[in-house]
Amino acid sequence: MLDSPLQQIVCCMGQPVAGNPTQFMMQRAFAAARLEWVYLTLEVAPVDLQDAVRGLRAMGFRGANFTIPHKVAVTQHLDELTETAALMGAVNCVYREEDRLIGENTDGKGFVQSLADVGGLSGKKVLLLGAGGAARAIAVEVGLAGAEQISVSNRTAEHGQMLVDLLNDKVPAQADLLPWQDKLKIPEQTDILINATPVGLLDADAELPLDLDTLETSTVVADVIINPPETWLLREAERRGCPTVNGLGMLVHQGIITFELWTGIKPDAVVMREAVEEFLEI
Ligand code: NDP
Repeated sequence: MLDSPLQQIVCCMGQPVAGNPTQFMMQRAFAAARLEWVYLTLEVAPVDLQDAVRGLRAMGFRGANFTIPHKVAVTQHLDELTETAALMGAVNCVYREEDRLIGENTDGKGFVQSLADVGGLSGKKVLLLGAGGAARAIAVEVGLAGAEQISVSNRTAEHGQMLVDLLNDKVPAQADLLPWQDKLKIPEQTDILINATPVGLLDADAELPLDLDTLETSTVVADVIINPPETWLLREAERRGCPTVNGLGMLVHQGIITFELWTGIKPDAVVMREAVEEFLEI
């Protein structure tokens, strides 16, 4: 047990970023909840990660976010992982229970909640593009949320296969690898197509190699990209009449879950959404 009260400080450890929408969103949410908390963005090199986590513990920080490149490596320096974080092998959020640091992954949960308005996941057939950290978190939660089938397509097939193996081993959904050569054809009766690659980040015209003539109008198309929220994929999907979901819902919903883990209080979701929109000037 700590002798002194915890500092009302949380932080984000990762690579340097020009601007951090999460920091902006969290500061607004703390203010709306009348909490005098501070969210710091800290640049931490991989070689310093262990010391940084020790510092976080020693200084009584209430929690932290971890981003690229620390999401996997940080798991070794925590006292405990939640069941899903252990399953994914990656953590984006750390919270305290007394003096114990617990690692959780809220990315996939936030994504699943962002789909609630377009019909949920039960019994759905999903095509997931990408097999990195975000794709992994999404795939596991989508599988746990009741999707029937998850096809994974990834630039590097062996990374895709590793995710498929994890899913078949750990979640009830059936997973397979869809090789991504040339323009990927979207299988018939795909209910949900998810882009979980960084293609589209800071480039609204960046195209994914997809055969969009095979995209059915009933397919929900989701993109994890936050900035800009309207990617090439979402624009093309909207033009074809598909329901779409941008990356802002995932960001806000993972933030809501994280805020509650840190503070024990439900944040104001509208304030958080508006903060992200203000930050992105949309
Ligand atoms: P990773 O680096 O862990 O994974 C990237 C994945 O995308 C890999 O599977 C990689 O394939 C693939 N990829 C990379 N470049 C290309 C390309 N040019 N063409 C096709 N595939 C490519 O990144 P993350 O998973 O952590 O992040 C992915 C995106 O998700 C980022 O843009 C990030 O900002 C966003 N994100 C959004 C969140 C939100 O709240 N909306 C939350 C978390 C992340 P390969 O295996 O071949 O390398």
